[in-house]
Amino acid sequence: MGTVDYVRRPMPKQEPFERVRNFDEVALGYTAELAREEAARCLGCKKPGCVDGCPVGIDVPRFVGLVAGDDFAAGIGTIKETNALPAVCGRVCPQEEQCEKECVLGKKGDPVAIGRLERFLADWEAQEGALRAPPLPAQNGRRIAVVGSGPAGLTVAADLALLGYGVTIFEALHEAGGVLTYGIPEFRLPKAIVRREVEYVQSLGVELRLDFIVGKTRTIDRLVEDFDAVFVGAGAGLPWFLDIPGENLNGVYSANEYLTRCNLMRGYRFPAWDTPLKRASRVAVFGGGNVAMDSARTALRLGADEAHIVYRRSRDELPARAEEVENAEEEGVLFDFLTLPVRLIGDGHSWLTEIECRRMELGEPDGSGRRRPVEIPGSEFRMSMDASICAIGNSPNPLIPMTTPGLDVGKKGNLITDEATGRTSRERVWAGGDVVTGAATVISAMGAGRQAARSIHETLSGGEGTEEL
Ligand code: FAD
Repeated sequence: MGTVDYVRRPMPKQEPFERVRNFDEVALGYTAELAREEAARCLGCKKPGCVDGCPVGIDVPRFVGLVAGDDFAAGIGTIKETNALPAVCGRVCPQEEQCEKECVLGKKGDPVAIGRLERFLADWEAQEGALRAPPLPAQNGRRIAVVGSGPAGLTVAADLALLGYGVTIFEALHEAGGVLTYGIPEFRLPKAIVRREVEYVQSLGVELRLDFIVGKTRTIDRLVEDFDAVFVGAGAGLPWFLDIPGENLNGVYSANEYLTRCNLMRGYRFPAWDTPLKRASRVAVFGGGNVAMDSARTALRLGADEAHIVYRRSRDELPARAEEVENAEEEGVLFDFLTLPVRLIGDGHSWLTEIECRRMELGEPDGSGRRRPVEIPGSEFRMSMDASICAIGNSPNPLIPMTTPGLDVGKKGNLITDEATGRTSRERVWAGGDVVTGAATVISAMGAGRQAARSIHETLSGGEGTEEL
């Protein structure tokens, strides 16, 4: 065995001073040479932990070995056996918490950059030409309705189309892709890539009906009458607020509104698109997850002089992906740790001018295992801000439960499903993704979609042929 290479190949990126002035993708992707070098670091473990660490069980050593051996076509084929959205997952999955966390090289050095290699193969395939749809089976005459076109809905639709079902996706917005389209910014996940993945799913024969709000345009009950099964993948699009004074001032946004106006409504392309976002010079973002990082980095690109992450715990507890925190720091996002916003203050004409915060310290660990932030009495201070963005979490929109009798819902408005199958309390209705778990990850939504597809197929076919999934 040769020498072990503990150092991963760096990802080529746009320089921070340059990228903070544009919306182009920050990470440029490995070249074929870098990809081969990185892949050659894999030790090809007999019992690979990386496969167990992947929520959809991609055969990581096989595809990485194929990259090292220069067989990119077989490499992407291997990934696609279990993952229909590799260009997306290669960019946004929290690999450091999943496959890469289990890589043995990580014990002494850097784990193999599995996500970057996945992205490399997906981009290589796209460059080579149109995405190739596998041969489709004959239609089996059964029809499935899918509510929502995010990663959960796209996965369930693709899996069932490949088994011969006629699938229709109903999407409330005018573009498909869910959070991938309206939430995650262009500089992290280019929309052309999401469109490509959606087109791939359509190429499997899946029909896409946009501007169709289930619960208003048609109820779940109607869909149950018209289709053999219904899958609800409606996500968690209802933003939480801090519930502090001043949240009705102008200049106060939820991250959901701010990012939707920028991404889906192309606010960043004003005046080419007639839907601008008001320019703010000092922006405070409340929260510490991916959504908060995306909001602060978007604010800088929209021309803010300062963007602050105001977070009540410390850097160690930030839930965002490590790479995105690093990118935000490089771009000049300012971090106010151990800081809790308590009041938003206006100028007397309903415009935000200041935020009042309280200092925090860390106490004993709480239910999440992280040290609980404790307020320091009398430590209030103010910062001048002309916009604030609340990125502290979301729950599912209540429209579907409100209009669907007999659909069981948990305390936070999430649909209750059987863990192993994704079945809801309603006959022939399944659900998965953020609408069940609350805000989570792309790959977990895809995993839930796959599980529901398997269960739908088992139910409708009487258990025949589920080994394909
Ligand atoms: P969604 O992606 O939310 O899709 C649901 C779809 O259903 C939407 O298109 C919605 O319009 C539609 N819909 C809702 N109600 C109806 C209705 N009544 N009728 C018809 N259609 C309806 N995860 C990661 O893994 N890595 C990241 O880096 C990451 N970054 C993120 C950044 C941001 C800004 C946000 C908001 C989330 C991020 N996430 C990230 C989380 C991830 O995007 C979600 O967990 C994932 O998209 C959930 O998929 P889903 O299919 O369940 O729902």
